[in-house]
This record gives sequence, C-alpha cells and structure tokens, in this order.
Amino acid sequence: MALEIVRIPALSDNYIWLVHDPDSAETMVVDPAQAEPVLAEADKRGWAITAIWNTHWHPDHTGGNAGIKAATGAEVIAPAGEAERIPTADKLVGEGDAVMLGHHAARVMEVPAHTAGHVAYHFAEDGAAFVGDTLFAMGCGRLFEGTAAQMFANMQRLAKLPPETRVYCAHEYTQSNGRYALAAEPDNAAIVRRMAEVDAARARGEATVPTTIAAELATNPFMRAQSAEILAERRAAKDAFRG
Ligand code: ZN
Ligand code: FE
Repeated sequence: MALEIVRIPALSDNYIWLVHDPDSAETMVVDPAQAEPVLAEADKRGWAITAIWNTHWHPDHTGGNAGIKAATGAEVIAPAGEAERIPTADKLVGEGDAVMLGHHAARVMEVPAHTAGHVAYHFAEDGAAFVGDTLFAMGCGRLFEGTAAQMFANMQRLAKLPPETRVYCAHEYTQSNGRYALAAEPDNAAIVRRMAEVDAARARGEATVPTTIAAELATNPFMRAQSAEILAERRAAKDAFRG
C-alpha cells in the first residue's frame, strides 16, 4: 500500500513530515523541529513512531529528536557527515545507502551546501523526495556551509528525478521565494501563474508544499540556473532581496 504522508506545521514556518507505511505499521518522521506536535499527531492517528530521519543538523530539524526518542524508542537516522552535531543519532547514512520504511526503500543522496553533510531521502518507487533545506518551492537553501557550485550540482541532480516526483520541503517559504523568482525571471509566465495560485492559497491559510520536480523545473530560478555562476548571483540577490 502507498505511504501515508502527513504535514505537521511547527515553529514559525517549518514543516515536519510524518510518514506511515500501512503494511508494516512502521512510522517515521522527517526533521522533527519539536517533539510535542509530532507525538500528538501520531497519537491521534494511532501510529507508533519507529524512526526519525534527519536531513541535517540544524536545530529546527533535530530539536524534537531527543523527546521523540525518549517517548517512543525511535531509531534516529542521520547524515554521517553531521554525526558530531546530531548526538541523538543511532545510525549514520551516506550517499547511495538504502533506508527502509517497511518494504519502501529510500535512497540517500548527499546534497551538501546548506550544511556540509546535508542529505535528501528519495523514495524512487513511491515518487517522493524529502529534501530538507536544499530545494524549496521556487527556492533553494542558503549556503551556510557550502558553495554555489555544490548547490548547482544538487539542483542538477534533483532536476533529473522523474518530473512527477513529489518534493517534501521543510519550510513554507514559497511566497517570498516566488517574489524573488518573479524578479529573477520577469518574463516567465509559469512563475506568474504559480504565484497567483500561491498568493490565493496563502490568503486562505493553506500550505503550498509538497511541490513537484516538474513545477520546480518550470518556476525555480535556482534549479533553472544554467551555471554555478548564475546560481551564485541569484543566491546572493535573494539573500539581499526585499520584495
Ligand atoms: Zn537548515
Ligand atoms: Fe530549516
């Protein structure tokens, strides 16, 4: 049976993803910023959390690790490159490793740049990718511990996933990303159309993620950057952008 994926809003703009496999009854949570809302949601659904999967060490992605682990005994899976910064980790993973939720396999992709050891988890058969703070709807993560060349390589890799792949980002940044995307590519009609939808959704208080690789290929100025230099320029412009 298909994975059930639930979005849990946390802090000011984080999304925590709760992922349940009905066949095995295993449930994992991606990047728990906090423990309480995750435990409450799992409880409400009668799901027992068996694992935590972290994409990177930032506290708004790992802050709930200890609390969830204490409450459920969940195993914490974390990027090998960030072992020292994720002391709750039980199992470390790197490029090409398979991580299982029941019989659903996710492949680990190392996507350094936002942080040095950042990973994404790609469920190829399920058509879903958990990308943390690497790829956002119409945006990409800030370059805190890596280079524009690395982020360019990440965007190029993610762009090659099947276009229908659903992309589960860790923040609701779409509206501000879209304002910059319009400034970067004013003649891109797909961005204009998408922003009208995003503005309407946000006005109704709705979330705008997950997105898809197809939507990002059409509207994301970082995935669409044709060189590391262009991505670098766009990242610097977005950092300074007040739209
Ligand atoms: Zn982060
Ligand atoms: Fe974050």
